[in-house]
Amino acid sequence: MKSFVTHLESAIDGTQLPADSLQTMHKDRPLWVRYDLDAVRAAMSKESLLQRLPDLWRYRELLPVGPDDEIVTLGEGMSPLLPCPALGKQFGLSDVWMKDESQLPTGSFKSRGQTLAITMAKKFGVKRVAIPTAGNAGGAMAAYAARAGLEAFVFMPEDTPAINQYESVASGAKTFLVNGLITDCGRIVREGKDAMGWFDISTLKEPYRIEGKKTMGLELAEQFDWQLPDVILYPTGGGTGLIGMWKAFAELAAIGWLNAEKMPRMVAVQSTGCCPIVRAFDAGERFAEPHIGADTIASGIRVPAAVGDFMILDAVRESDGRAIAVPEENIIEWMNLAARLEGIAVCPEAAACVGAMEMLTKDGWIQPNDRVVVFNTGAMQKYPEAMATDLQKLDKDKPIDWDQLQTLNTAE
Ligand SMILES: *Cc1c(COP(=O)(O)O)cnc(C)c1O
Repeated sequence: MKSFVTHLESAIDGTQLPADSLQTMHKDRPLWVRYDLDAVRAAMSKESLLQRLPDLWRYRELLPVGPDDEIVTLGEGMSPLLPCPALGKQFGLSDVWMKDESQLPTGSFKSRGQTLAITMAKKFGVKRVAIPTAGNAGGAMAAYAARAGLEAFVFMPEDTPAINQYESVASGAKTFLVNGLITDCGRIVREGKDAMGWFDISTLKEPYRIEGKKTMGLELAEQFDWQLPDVILYPTGGGTGLIGMWKAFAELAAIGWLNAEKMPRMVAVQSTGCCPIVRAFDAGERFAEPHIGADTIASGIRVPAAVGDFMILDAVRESDGRAIAVPEENIIEWMNLAARLEGIAVCPEAAACVGAMEMLTKDGWIQPNDRVVVFNTGAMQKYPEAMATDLQKLDKDKPIDWDQLQTLNTAE
């Protein structure tokens, strides 16, 4: 039995490519996976979903695997969608939610992309994979490659969060710290292709990571009973998540499960420390100039150049959305605020989205009753470098001043 995929399609010029063999890019730009959506509509019902396991493979008619394909999985998907009344109140909003991806395997939403990318690479006979990473993608790829029995090479900037370094090595990937940015790591993977014979799993340089990230949008729609929110705030680096969700909404509208007139406004959130997409958005451009000197504590969005820049910008504009950069120096403050008010372990990238929510509410673009969803794309615990460490010491051998005790230890 086959999947519902009909072909791959170049995002830059619409050229069609076959989907039954390993593909990378066309004219150095990404490919879309296209489905026979009429057949999907006939094969899948909202009711049939209820019988299925709460993981991302419940949407398999809208994924590139056939019923007989072997899946490389760590049990990813169906992350909680949590109401955040206290955080909303803080900014004068009544309907704020967080889609908490921190609980996925390897502690970030990168597992969604990697379960698909590695499943498909294995299906097509790949034995060796390589990836440039800002951190979480490398850790996730290493884990899924280990699970699939593939040999993995991971290249990351030398100042990548330590946990990402450890998790990659621990999963058996040959891991290298590069004295540069993710774009420099990407060049190494590109240049090593012939000598090393590896398959390049870089963001958007193979077609299937988007399909995995797309499931964030499918889940969100199902969790809100097929009524999408007004605004989605998404921390944007390479952009697969935002592009994937927008594709998910279009596909759901095409099979008649969503009202195409009621799409959310998509907000691409970046830091002032690295904001190529925001600059292109503000300048009215479809392609972004590389951000020189990129530097942010939110390592997942430290992506100075994105090969899918035009796909991000198209999605943001089609949705009547925005691209916005938040001040780098406030990110940790927002991280602590969200964690303190809601108990959610918010990563710095999602903290930037909390900041964007505050800024866009202040300027009236987000209205008090808008339903707003923030994506917490990873776990705070993966960023010890960004977390508070100047805790108060307590001497067990001295009398304790109880009054003083009450006033200490709140990270504000
Ligand atoms: C990779 C990453 C991002 C950016 O994701 P894209 O979909 O590639 O834009 C955001 N947050 C975290 C925690 C990440 O690891």
